Amino acid sequence: MNTKLIFSQKKSLIIRLISFSIIALCFFSLLLGGYGIPAVMSEQLPELGANPPKSPRTLTISAVGDCVLGADDRYVSQNGSLTFFDMAHYKDTSYFLSGVKGILSKADVTFANLENVLLSYADPQNQEPKPEQGNKGFWFYGLPSYVTILKQGGIDIVNIANNHSHDYQDAGYTETTNILTKAGIPFTGYDDPALVTKNGIRVGSVGLNLLGKNERGVDMTQFKQDAADQIKHLKSKSDIIVVQIHWGDEGSSMPNSTQVDVGHFLIDAGADIVLGHHPHVLQPTELYKDRYIVYSLGNFCYGGIQWPGYDSALTAIWQIEISLDTRGHLTLADPKVIPCSITGDLTFQTNDYRPIPITDDLFVQNVHARLAVMTMEEL
Ligand SMILES: [Zn+2]
Repeated sequence: MNTKLIFSQKKSLIIRLISFSIIALCFFSLLLGGYGIPAVMSEQLPELGANPPKSPRTLTISAVGDCVLGADDRYVSQNGSLTFFDMAHYKDTSYFLSGVKGILSKADVTFANLENVLLSYADPQNQEPKPEQGNKGFWFYGLPSYVTILKQGGIDIVNIANNHSHDYQDAGYTETTNILTKAGIPFTGYDDPALVTKNGIRVGSVGLNLLGKNERGVDMTQFKQDAADQIKHLKSKSDIIVVQIHWGDEGSSMPNSTQVDVGHFLIDAGADIVLGHHPHVLQPTELYKDRYIVYSLGNFCYGGIQWPGYDSALTAIWQIEISLDTRGHLTLADPKVIPCSITGDLTFQTNDYRPIPITDDLFVQNVHARLAVMTMEEL
């Protein structure tokens, strides 16, 4: 009798436990299946954006093209015009960017391509020939004190991944990075990304050189893989990714198919803005998947040319305002172009190495036309 009673009580307890479990399972299934995810679960879901701000934020980015703060001093003045070294000797370092400093300093972050190494001593006569130029190439260097030109002019981040960053081999590159670091100027170059925070927005940037060190080319598969890895790594720490890239054909006013292919690849990999350099002339801007690729920003403060001519004197300060909302979403406004000449000599016969804004109608029209925003089909 007692045994039966105990068995009956146990049976009843087991039935109640099973019923409770079934009801509990149904309840959670309903919650998960169609009536919303419990609060505890939603906290585990990834939020939009890596670190969305509590209030909306904006940031203005400026960019300029190739800066050779120095020269190859084998090529000396032949018509009375001064070299960059001469000008640095006769003027103060603040002279070079004094014409644009007001505009560049106003932006929150200003990018430039530094197309020379900084060295205390250089011997351009005995450098390693470059495949395309042989020993007729240019080996650009500037004195260590020229690094102050950047800060005095309002430039915040320089790219040093270009076809002149190894003119004085690895030692020259390392000395340049040491000088920039000591001066407190972030740089992007090959495996060295830069990360700066302004207005609470984290700007990650990467520097790439499609021409390869000493213009020896790159393995495209490896190049793309490395670029994607760098962008992916930086993306988790940044709100916006800016890629500075050296590429294209010198003197060509349109991007080649490789630039377009790599530009798209970089945006697809996570870049928000791609800033191109090297062709020495301006090339169009492409709006691709709501992101911008500026194919070439031309020359800017360019000690590598004593007699520029009209085409290579046309340049600009490219500006864009970006907004970050409280969900971590980034919006890019329409870019603004401020037309400039690389020289104050408006016959473009000589270079005074002091870029200035230009308001002449035809000049302005030409700069806007060459940097015009195009779609993929229009390129
Ligand atoms: Zn170049």
